[in-house]
Amino acid sequence: MNHPWIANRTRSFDSSGIRKVFDLATQMKDPINLSIGQPDFEVPEEVRAACIEAIESGKNGYALTQGMPVLREKIQAKIDQQYGHSDRKLFVSSGTSGGLVLALLALVNPGDEVIFFDPYFVMYQPLVELVGGVPIPIDTYPDFRIDLQRVADAVTTRTKMIIMNSPANPTGVTCSQEEIKGLAQLAAERNIAILSDEIYSHFSYDTPFESPALYNEQAIVIDGFSKSHAMTGWRVGYVHGPETLIDEMAKLQQYSFVCAPQPAQWASAVALDIDVTEHIQNYRRKRDLLVNGISDLYEIVPPGGAFYAFPRTPWGTGTEFVTQAIENNLLIIPGNIFSRHDTHFRISYAAEDSTIERGVEVLRRLAKKHPEEKE
Ligand code: PMP
Repeated sequence: MNHPWIANRTRSFDSSGIRKVFDLATQMKDPINLSIGQPDFEVPEEVRAACIEAIESGKNGYALTQGMPVLREKIQAKIDQQYGHSDRKLFVSSGTSGGLVLALLALVNPGDEVIFFDPYFVMYQPLVELVGGVPIPIDTYPDFRIDLQRVADAVTTRTKMIIMNSPANPTGVTCSQEEIKGLAQLAAERNIAILSDEIYSHFSYDTPFESPALYNEQAIVIDGFSKSHAMTGWRVGYVHGPETLIDEMAKLQQYSFVCAPQPAQWASAVALDIDVTEHIQNYRRKRDLLVNGISDLYEIVPPGGAFYAFPRTPWGTGTEFVTQAIENNLLIIPGNIFSRHDTHFRISYAAEDSTIERGVEVLRRLAKKHPEEKE
């Protein structure tokens, strides 16, 4: 990143850490890959068929900026039923990521502070910086719970937004009802936007999923089909919230992403009716397989959702431990990719049972032996 033409804002994106991991991975033969942030099941057959049908019947042009009515109206009916808010509208975005970009562009002025929680999803900090905002990460170690008093103390006159993500990437932790309600109410009292990244809303294993929109009519919610229906490459998400804000985001979409792919929107309308419970139950079982396999040897906060666990390293930094894991053919991600701390690592259990079992075996071996103690 040293070409004279490169804009300063580009420097807020540093993907060198994750790139290093993937560079190492390319040298691995048949790695035990527990690093992947996407489901290992296939896109449901009916969804694939609906996309092919959309393409074959000529639905290949630009979609409406707000999203195709076939999908938009169905999601609108769902959120009206869920929340019953008089002022809650949506637009279809180019994945959850597209929704995040537009929400930040539409709401955050240069100098505005944006609160989010450390560990965090990799996009939050660079996106806040991209729009000139000031990232305010709030540390949630060691239990990854949200301390409402700490959040209240972090709020200043410049605070514009709180980003929350439950179930969370990378920890898999789900917020309690008290945390969600508390954050939602704090945002309302202090006139701050609350932006809820609900991409893992289907993947809540121990408690029913809850949104801050239940407690705050102005909450902005981002969700999508990438994880729930394994459609990461299809780029369909949606954002719902107060109409004025949604209209502004859709306006920015006109000049940037333009639209989410039209055939994928027709298919997403079909996806909305597909029951993914079986997959979710399967992932709950995979969670247990992983957590039960290592929890006697690793300090691990029980993950209630998503498909990640975020244990503390038994020795060394996250980077040192992951380097050893990779030398032992296990691909996982060091915690400092998602955090200011380098003390943990992320495991994804979106993998075949046999892969999880092989990973557990390596992790058990590594926990018991510091590399310097090896014979
Ligand atoms: N938010 C979180 C917390 C995620 O983990 C991801 C994907 N890894 C995204 C957003 C982006 O998802 P999408 O494919 O819908 O852009």
